[in-house]
Amino acid sequence: MNLFRFCSGLKVLGYFMILLVAGVVAVSYHAVVVSTWWPIFIESGHRAYSALALLIIVVFHFLLIMLLWSYLITVFTDPGSVPEHFRRELGDNLEAGNSNDQGGFGSLGYCPKCRNVKPPRCHHCSVCQRCVLKMDHHCVWIVNCVGARNYKFFLLFLFYTFLETMLDIVVLLPSFIKFFGQAIKHSSSPGNLASLVLAFVLNLAFVLSLLCFVVMHISLLSSNTTSVEVHEKNGEVRWKYDLGKKKNFEQVFGKKKVFWLLPLYSKDDLDNMTSLHGLEFPTRSDIDP
Ligand SMILES: [Zn+2]
Ligand SMILES: [Zn+2]
Repeated sequence: MNLFRFCSGLKVLGYFMILLVAGVVAVSYHAVVVSTWWPIFIESGHRAYSALALLIIVVFHFLLIMLLWSYLITVFTDPGSVPEHFRRELGDNLEAGNSNDQGGFGSLGYCPKCRNVKPPRCHHCSVCQRCVLKMDHHCVWIVNCVGARNYKFFLLFLFYTFLETMLDIVVLLPSFIKFFGQAIKHSSSPGNLASLVLAFVLNLAFVLSLLCFVVMHISLLSSNTTSVEVHEKNGEVRWKYDLGKKKNFEQVFGKKKVFWLLPLYSKDDLDNMTSLHGLEFPTRSDIDP
């Protein structure tokens, strides 16, 4: 099998995934808002029931905006590439005498494909065909690598998508049960019923697979490890980048609490936190010598 072709194929698959995401969003929107809760809000005689419908519609739109916002920021943010000057600076600092491309970089790695030094936690992505800073994984859903500069946005996308799909399942469940109970004498149009069943099944499939992913990334985040590094830890008693749960969280989400749930960083954090740029990362020995 030609690995290069396979990897380029993954890139094409990504565009199909974007269409799939758009399709799932459209079907869910139709099932939850257009055919179920908006009519209830308009037509229901009960005040409390109308208020509940309005609340569901508002929360649905809020989560939808947050997940699309996080998604677009993740897609369009460069995860971080090795800067041009990095190699020269490194050579000067270490007096590394690196006329030979292959050597003189101390404990740092070297990428023969890109012909550059790899900063700590940097890895080569065979789909993007370049080195990516603090690479976590190549994500086909976003047609981009997840790395130092977009990991937070990716986690927020995961978080809001998980909440939205959970909401969809909970608010579609009564209609879904009713559909099976009154399969013969239901009054809804066939189009509405099709979108209800499709949205319910798709959201259920998504929520189950997202749950595994969410749990995995919570565990990675709490130990300041990337998906790539899981295989590198090799039974180390305590991972060298593990600064404790709170600091590990701040290394990705920044220190300003108001920005934690937004796909943005404060200027203060960008100016003061080296980890957000992906070239230098504090280790345990820095804070606890
Ligand atoms: Zn590379
Ligand atoms: Zn990649």
